Amino acid sequence: MKSLFEIKNLNMHYPVTDGLLGNIKGYVYALNNVNLNIYENEILGLVGESGSGKSTLGNCILKLINPTSGEVIFYGEDITKKTKKELKDFRSKAQLIFQNPYMSLDPRMKIYDLLKEPFIINKVSDKKTTDETIKKIINLIGMDEEVLSRYPHEFSGGQRQRIAIARAIILNPKFIVADEPVSALDVSIQAQIVNLLLKLKEKFNLTMLFISHDLSIIKYISDRVAVMYLGEITEIAEKEEFFKNHKHPYSQALLNAVPVINEDKTKKIILSGDIPSPQNPPTGCKFHTRCPYVMEKCKTKQPDFYEVSQDHKVRCFLCEN
Ligand code: SF4
Repeated sequence: MKSLFEIKNLNMHYPVTDGLLGNIKGYVYALNNVNLNIYENEILGLVGESGSGKSTLGNCILKLINPTSGEVIFYGEDITKKTKKELKDFRSKAQLIFQNPYMSLDPRMKIYDLLKEPFIINKVSDKKTTDETIKKIINLIGMDEEVLSRYPHEFSGGQRQRIAIARAIILNPKFIVADEPVSALDVSIQAQIVNLLLKLKEKFNLTMLFISHDLSIIKYISDRVAVMYLGEITEIAEKEEFFKNHKHPYSQALLNAVPVINEDKTKKIILSGDIPSPQNPPTGCKFHTRCPYVMEKCKTKQPDFYEVSQDHKVRCFLCEN
C-alpha cells in the first residue's frame, strides 16, 4: 500500500507560562514521538479518550499548528518545513471537517457564498465552472439548489454538517481530517452523515483521518484503527484484526466501555480513573497508572512497538515476545 502521509517522530509540546512574566514553567506534552503512515484511499480511524491528542495530531498533519519537531511527509515533501506561501497548494488538497457545524459556517454568509469562498481563496475566477461545481456538490450532498440563497441558521445541525462537508470537498481534495464530525449531532442523524462521508470517499477517492471517541462509528467507517493515549499511538491494526484481536490493555478497556448486548442483558465495563495530565505524564508506559496488568518495568521503561502480526503493532510489554 502506498502512503499518502508518512508521519515521523512527531512531537507537539506546548509551553506553559506563568501569567505575569511569561516564563516557561513547564510543557503540555500533547504529542510524543508519533510515527504513523496514512495509506492512499483508506479511512484511518483514530480513537481515544478526550485529551489523548487526537485533534492535535489532525491539526499538525494539516499544518494548522506547527509541531515542536518531527516530519509530516506528503508526496515526498515535509510540509512542516513549508512557508505559508508554499502551503497554498497543500491547503486545497487537504481539508478539515470540524466537529461543530454551528461554529464552522459563518452565519453572515449565504450558502452560495460559503461554497464560493474556497474558489476565491484559491483564485479560481471562472464563474461558470464555480457555479456548476457548487450546484453539483449541493446535489451530491442530498440538498436542493434553492438552499444556496439561504443562511446557515435556517438549517438543522445535520444539514449544516452536510454543507460544511460540501465546502471541504468542493476543490476536490485528496485528504480529509474529519474531527468528531458527528458527535455534536443527534444519534438519528449520525448514520446519515457517516454514510455520506463513505459515499464521497468512494466518489472522490479520498483518504481520510476519521477522529472519534466512539468505537461503534470507528468500526463502521474505518479500514484501519489507531488508538491514542496521552499523545502516543498505543495500537494500530486493520479494522477486522483490531476488533477481533486487540492486544493493548487500553484498547481492551475502550472496547469494554462499549455496551455489549449479551443473550439477555446489557453489560458495560467502564475504564477506571481519569486520563493523567499531559503536563505531568507518568514515566515508563503512560498507561501504567490505570493498567490492570502493570509490571515493575512498566513504571520506568517505555515499551517499544511490537508487531504481533502483519500490520498490527502494539506498544505494550505484554506483546514483547
Ligand atoms: Fe500495561 Fe505494562 Fe502493557 Fe503498559 S506496558 S499497557 S503498563 S502491561
